Amino acid sequence: MPEPIEIPEENRRNIIFETDPGDGIVQEIKQHIRETGEPHTWWGHSHTKPPPGSKPIYLDEFEIPAPKDVNGVAPCPCCPHDSAKYKKGRIAWFPQEMVIRLVGKDCFAALDREGHDDAVVEMRKRQRRAREIAFILSQIPKLPQVLDTARDALPIAQDLDAVEVALKGRLENTLRMRAWQTLGAGELRVRESLTESFQRADGSTGERQIESMRIYARIRGAAILNPLNRPLAPVISKAIERLAEVATDFSDVDHGNLEDTERSRVAKLVEREQGKLRETLEKMGERQAFLSPITINTLRTWGAMPNAELRCIFERDGETLYVGRDQNGKIRVPVGRNVDLSIPRLPART
Ligand SMILES: [Zn+2]
Repeated sequence: MPEPIEIPEENRRNIIFETDPGDGIVQEIKQHIRETGEPHTWWGHSHTKPPPGSKPIYLDEFEIPAPKDVNGVAPCPCCPHDSAKYKKGRIAWFPQEMVIRLVGKDCFAALDREGHDDAVVEMRKRQRRAREIAFILSQIPKLPQVLDTARDALPIAQDLDAVEVALKGRLENTLRMRAWQTLGAGELRVRESLTESFQRADGSTGERQIESMRIYARIRGAAILNPLNRPLAPVISKAIERLAEVATDFSDVDHGNLEDTERSRVAKLVEREQGKLRETLEKMGERQAFLSPITINTLRTWGAMPNAELRCIFERDGETLYVGRDQNGKIRVPVGRNVDLSIPRLPART
């Protein structure tokens, strides 16, 4: 039989807490466990077996500091014998008896499976609620800054969307150029002829020309040519609309008093819309890079090479982009004035 652990005499009777112990007591218990490693010596712990029908409310969970290979450290009032039974435990308040018992994580289930399961579900709900409240409270003060960023980004996104539509239309419909297929990977390739020797059937050596592709340069911004792209500005407009509503309606309500479903909805909305904004700003940066001097110049040099995979013209003169197959056939793509503005950044996530 395992070694019994000594329980202080004061803890062998019920110590009464008339009301819900609250967060102060929970913190005190967890500190006691961190410092002593002995839940059973906390002054308010009742080391008495729960009588039939007594239902727990799990206030929180804890883990007793102990080496990894040690499973049991503390004795548990739900279990027979006062030997080292558990390392992971729960703070259980029994409102009918008005006592707190520090017990093994799942020990109470052996006495009352249903009471245990219900208490776990309730605890998870309370924890989620606390997390959501903390999240909303941390995000709401940042919303004005998030909204400023989104409003600054909107005209840039609108101009980027417009130039993308115009550019793709010219390339595909007017010029019949397969720009995405050729440039999509961001690689500008040139054809190269190599001379290769080979052995003929009669044993003599011959030479033949083989063609291969070599990467001449890489460009940033080819993402703008992707046919699957969706416009970016509407995502930003929607985010502004939704986040502005939250900023107005939920800035000074008591989030603890909201209906659970309403609070969850707000927390999810804030997280989702900020995520979409972040993603959209990133895409704007990628697509904007196509119109940068470095990409346009690289394209122009490459497109004029006789062995370029795609002979083409890309030139930019301020608010006009010229595209075509040769100098005689180039056509204009208007470039909005906001396209080159630097893309604003969202405040840090935490
Ligand atoms: Zn136990």
